[in-house]
Amino acid sequence: ASFLDLGLSQWAVDTCRELGMRRPTAVQRHCIPRILAGDDVLGIAQTGSGKTAAFALPILNRLAEVPYGVFALVLTPTRELACQLAEQFRALGSSLHVRCTLIVGGMDMIRQARALVQRPHIVVATPGRIKALLSEDPDIAAVVSKTKFLVLDEADRVLDVGFEEELRVIFKCLPKSRQTLLFSATMTNELQALLEISANRSCHLLS
Ligand code: AMP
Repeated sequence: ASFLDLGLSQWAVDTCRELGMRRPTAVQRHCIPRILAGDDVLGIAQTGSGKTAAFALPILNRLAEVPYGVFALVLTPTRELACQLAEQFRALGSSLHVRCTLIVGGMDMIRQARALVQRPHIVVATPGRIKALLSEDPDIAAVVSKTKFLVLDEADRVLDVGFEEELRVIFKCLPKSRQTLLFSATMTNELQALLEISANRSCHLLS
C-alpha cells in the first residue's frame, strides 16, 4: 500500500516524499486508515517504527479539512520527546499553516498560558506542566475541553515516570467526543488500566 492508498490527501503524500518517506511502515499501514475513520487506537510500536507519523499524518489530514475544528493534545513523558514530536508535526504539516505549541517544564508558564488561549491546533506537552496550567487558569481548561484528538505517546514510559495522577486530572477536562490514540512500546497491566480511564469507547489494538 502507498500513503495515498491509506486515505491521506495528496499534499500529505507529497510532504512524505519530500521528507524521504516513500512507503508507509507497518504501524502506519495499520493505524492511519483507522484514525482517519475516527476510531480510537492503541498502537504497540517501538521508537524508530514510524509511529509519530502514524498519528501525526491523520491528525494533520483532518486539520487540513476542518482547520477550526481540530485541536490535538499530545502528551509524552519528557521534554526532549515533546520537542521531537513538535518538530515532526511542524515538518509533516509544513504546507499547512499549523500552529503547534510546546508546553513543557523549564519554560515561562505565563507565556505558555498565553500561547494556549490563542487556541493552537496542536499542543505537545508533558503531563506535569499541562496539569499545572489547567489547575491555575479556567481559560486553559476551556481550551482543553475542545480537544478532538488526545494522543498519549510512549504511554508505558508516561506511567513509569509516575504521571498517573496528572493524567487523571487532564482526562477529566477532556470532552467525551474526542478520539484517543495511545502508543506504547509494551503492553502491560498498567497500560490496560490506563486504557480504561483514557479511552471512552472500544479501542483498536494495532501493532
Ligand atoms: P519514530 O518511530 O516516529 O520515532 O520515527 C523514526 C524515524 O523514521 C523518523 O525520523 C521519521 O522521519 C522516519 N520515518 C517515519 N516514517 C517513515 C517512512 N514511512 N519511511 C521512511 N522513514 C520514515
